[in-house]
Amino acid sequence: MNEDLDLVVRGGLMVTAAGESVADIGVVDGRIVQIGGPMSGAREIDATGKLVLPGGVDMHVHLSPVEMGGTSQPWADDFVSGSRAAAAGGVTTIGNIGFPQQQERLPDLVERIAAEAARDSLVDFVIHPVLSEPDDRTEADLARLAELGHTSVKIFMSIGDFDAKADAFVKALDVAGRHGLLTMVHCEDVCVIEHATSELDDKGDSGLRHYGESRPALSEQVAVKRMIAFAEVTGAPIYIVHLGSEGALAEARAARGRGQRVHVETRPIYLYFTDERFAGDDGALFVGNPPLRGARDRDALWAGLAAGHVDTCCTDHAAWTLADKLDPELTVSTARPGMSELETLMPVLYSEGVRKGRLTLQRFVEVTSTNAAKLFGLFPQKGTIAVGSDADLVVWDPQARRPIVGAEGMSRAGYSLYEGWDVVGAPAQTISRGEVVYADGAVLGETGHGQLVHRGPTRDL
Ligand SMILES: [Zn+2]
Repeated sequence: MNEDLDLVVRGGLMVTAAGESVADIGVVDGRIVQIGGPMSGAREIDATGKLVLPGGVDMHVHLSPVEMGGTSQPWADDFVSGSRAAAAGGVTTIGNIGFPQQQERLPDLVERIAAEAARDSLVDFVIHPVLSEPDDRTEADLARLAELGHTSVKIFMSIGDFDAKADAFVKALDVAGRHGLLTMVHCEDVCVIEHATSELDDKGDSGLRHYGESRPALSEQVAVKRMIAFAEVTGAPIYIVHLGSEGALAEARAARGRGQRVHVETRPIYLYFTDERFAGDDGALFVGNPPLRGARDRDALWAGLAAGHVDTCCTDHAAWTLADKLDPELTVSTARPGMSELETLMPVLYSEGVRKGRLTLQRFVEVTSTNAAKLFGLFPQKGTIAVGSDADLVVWDPQARRPIVGAEGMSRAGYSLYEGWDVVGAPAQTISRGEVVYADGAVLGETGHGQLVHRGPTRDL
């Protein structure tokens, strides 16, 4: 009998991507050291009748400001409030998109934001630096990132002057791939968006109820297709963030059929809402990029999530207050895209996906945890329950019935898109490296508990 354990999680149905079984889990120094067999610990959590899942791995959040072109985006959440929302929602590792300040090199950017997160984050984190200005030092920067264990980089086709520097971005994609980095890409075509937006402006239709028309589905599909070609010519893996339409998904599937490493993330809003929302008085709340699409797109994403054509569901958590979001002055050009999602990601997906028979429990674990951990070089430290892995666990109460009340959430947004939804299934306890950081409605852990995770190269699924 091992009596030296710090923590035992007893009697739960342990669920991983590989299967499920009832087992006790023993933890020492933040790591899982024993699964099954006799054990006793200094602290015990009774998980009888509950599930025990690997902690959520949300590789797409915005908790540090965007400072580009002299403007700063005042997100409602920083690492303090955002990571508390993560813990309350069962997410134990976050990937924060880090934007450069003027002339800042990528490794410096990561160091700066990682220091902020180390001070403020309750959960573990990685930083994805945004490459906005590829130049003759970019190759060395990407090599340095890989050496330091930061194995991802993000590029935007939709902002800055991507088109003017496309050749340099393709070169950077190539270099990133050769160093084991995964390149995350925001795929929307600037030309299509600018043309559609100016047409709306000319007609006097630049209000947010026209948001979907300002960034048509075609702009996503054409950008995805183009990026897949760049990935093919370089042989580099890509990760398409927040894919939201049937046509774009078809392009990604076709590329995968040709053997390319084209990974697909979707985000919650595309699974639960359609572009009809823009017509409502609160339509501005649903503004995110790319915009919501139709029912066919929504259904294609659910099917893709279930079948394995969509690899991850991550939040793109970018929270605004209600007043900022509903500002009547906003137009399709000045809209504030993004929403608070970290606390609701797993409960709503469990309720709408697993409980309604659209996703198996294994798929739920894969798309909320395991796949992201593998793709971003975190596996098997994160993303699974195994001896040697970090004890990042969610004791999940499949019966918890909890109407969502945004004002009671940890996010400073103060509201939720799922206001009043009768969600069934929620974390009872969230455990980060053996420490209980959330239990029964209360965040318990200390700000700064979170650590930067040193990563290996991206791996295929
Ligand atoms: Zn984002």
